[in-house]
Order: sequence, then C-alpha cells, then structure tokens
Amino acid sequence: MNFNTKLIHAGVSRDNITGAVNVPIYQASTYAQTKLGGHPEYEYSRTGNPTRRAVEELIKDLEGGTAGFAFASGSAAIHNVFSLFSTGDHIIVGNDVYGGTFRLINTVLKRQGLSFTVVDTRNLAEVKAAIRPNTKAIYLETPTNPLMQITDITAITELGKAEKLLTVVDNTFATPYIQQPLKLGADIVLHSASKYLGGHSDLVAGLVVVKGQRLGERIGYLQNAIGGILGPQDSWLLQRGIKTLAVRMQAHEKNTQKIFEFLKENKDIAKIYYPGDPMAKDFKIVKKQMNGFGGMISFELKKGLSIQRFIEGLQIITLAESLGAVESLIEVPAVMTHGAIPEKIRLKNGISNELIRLSVGIEQVEDLLSDLRQALAKAK
Ligand SMILES: *Cc1c(COP(=O)(O)O)cnc(C)c1O
Repeated sequence: MNFNTKLIHAGVSRDNITGAVNVPIYQASTYAQTKLGGHPEYEYSRTGNPTRRAVEELIKDLEGGTAGFAFASGSAAIHNVFSLFSTGDHIIVGNDVYGGTFRLINTVLKRQGLSFTVVDTRNLAEVKAAIRPNTKAIYLETPTNPLMQITDITAITELGKAEKLLTVVDNTFATPYIQQPLKLGADIVLHSASKYLGGHSDLVAGLVVVKGQRLGERIGYLQNAIGGILGPQDSWLLQRGIKTLAVRMQAHEKNTQKIFEFLKENKDIAKIYYPGDPMAKDFKIVKKQMNGFGGMISFELKKGLSIQRFIEGLQIITLAESLGAVESLIEVPAVMTHGAIPEKIRLKNGISNELIRLSVGIEQVEDLLSDLRQALAKAK
C-alpha cells in the first residue's frame, strides 16, 4: 500500500462490529468480562481503548514501526520516552530542540537523577565526544525549530548502534509524509500530534512509535503505569486529521515554496531559513532523507524595519504560537516560543531578536503573498 493510501486505510480504519467506515468514539472506561480471570483484549481504557488503538495502529504503520502509542500531548509522549531511563543514566540532546523539552529536562528530569549533555547533533565529532560509559540515548529533532537545522539521521543512528545507544527523533516538523526516521535506523520516533498530524489547531496530542518488540513492551508498560493517555474523543479527532495529511502537506509545501521565492527576491528580508533552500549547506542531507521541504520557514527583516508593525499589520496570517495547521500562523521566537531561553544563549544559538517563524497554511497563496507584501510596507 502506498503511503497516501495508508493514511486512509492502514491501522484500524473502520468499525469491525457495525462496518461503520470510521472507528467510532468508544466512550467507555471499562469493559464487561465474560470469564473470571480471563484477559480480554480490552479491560480498562487507560490500558487500551479501541478508538485510541485505531490511531496507535495507524501511526505505527505510517512510521513503519513495531508498536504505536498515543498520549495526551507531545510533552506527555516525550516524558513517557524519557521514563525508560533511570537515575544515573546520561542522555545526549540536540541544542535546538523544542523549548518544552528543555523545560522538562532542566526542571523535572535532572531532579530525578538523569543527566544530559547538549550538543549540536549536526556535528558527529561533538556527539561522539559527549558519549560517557553511562550514556543511554541520543535525542534530536530535524529539521529544528525555528532555525531548520538538519541532522543526518543515518549518521547518528550508525553511531548510536555502534555505541549501544537508543536514537530518539522528534519528527513533529517533518511528519512521516516527509521523513521516516525508523527506516533510517532510529529506535523511537515521536510527535507532537497537536501540529501537522492533527492539522487543524483543534487538538493537543502526542504519539510515539518504536522499533522492536521489547521496546514496544517497555513503552506500553510505561504508558499504562504513568497514564498520560489520549482520550477517545481526541483519538478520533486525530485519526480524522491524519487522513488528510497528504493533501494538506502537498498544499503546505506548494505555498511555502512560493513564499520562499517571494522572500528571496524581497529587499526587506535579511535572512531565510528553509529546508528547501538549495543554497543551504545542509541541502544534500535534506535531499537524502526527506521527501519534501515541509511548510515551515523562518526569516529576518532587514535592520531598521519594525517587526511589531509588520506582525501587527498582517490581516490573514495569524499571530499565534503553534504550527502545522491549515491556517497560517506567525510568531517571533525571541519573545514567544523561545522567550524562556536566556538571551545570551538564545543569541549564541542563532535565534536573533529579528527572527520570525512562519507556519504556512493552505490558504490561496496569492492572499498570503499580498498579506506579507502589505505588512512589509507598514514595517517601513
Ligand atoms: C509543540 C512541540 C512539542 C510539544 O508538544 P505538545 O503537544 O505541545 O505538548 C514537542 N516537540 C515539538 C517539535 C513541538 O513543536
């Protein structure tokens, strides 16, 4: 089955009891048992629920893994994965990962006895040098947020295998439509499904897919023990969103390409960060491991232009955190998503005060272009 067909028909795509062409919302906490001491497929909804199971089977098939798991948020999914590790374990983390991941690491996981080394995962020597006897995993994102940095997933997973480390990839920005890290050797892939997979800014959810039976059992055990599961309503909504992933991603990509060309030609733009920029030094890796360039683009206005007048002057593109939805969303990382990072570190990592991140939606692109054009005029 081709990927675009899998989106509609893989996993559990219909109700086995009634034949309903969508899996219904099984709004139940518990299930009648016919035999004392038997172990029916469903016994309690924290452990398993048919609506959640359907979306878990679907993401498993889309990422090409052994088992899939759905959580109440991307952050809950990340926490569940880090719960594989124990006091004394050490983990290597990419330096441009999601801000909430750093918050979880610095204010929760370190208190519980895990230690971390933050590195630029694009630099294999730097990753290698960070490995200690107690290192258990490498955790990364590619492309990163908001600078669209690209890490060679195959190179990292080869190193991980040689050193007996798990490789964990947050695949939120690319989605399995564009990039499938398990096929490149990763052990665990996870998502904030609140973004492209849900796709409509109406849902907070997280997904994890693992390769290997044993790892699947361990993550499943933790999902049940910790209990941060996705409820049946949101599981249903997520499966509904995923069905249109291909058509949405095609529209996101087409629009983003046009916006990239517009920005590139525009004298008011100082810098652009976009995986589809053929002049970027990581473009070779992009071509090797991604089936497209996605719908995220970041840029800087020329000095002297007012970011505030530009952003507040937009009429269609909406000022908001989050990304990956049908409507275009714009934000300024320095004062919004990345505001919690101390300025010195933020600037050192390349996230300037002028940086703007745009999640390109699927509106008619001419409307987005004229919105950008008129807002740039107001910025002067
Ligand atoms: C949003 C996001 C998360 C966190 O997910 P939530 O669903 O908001 O908890 C994790 N990783 C990336 C890359 C994200 O963009």
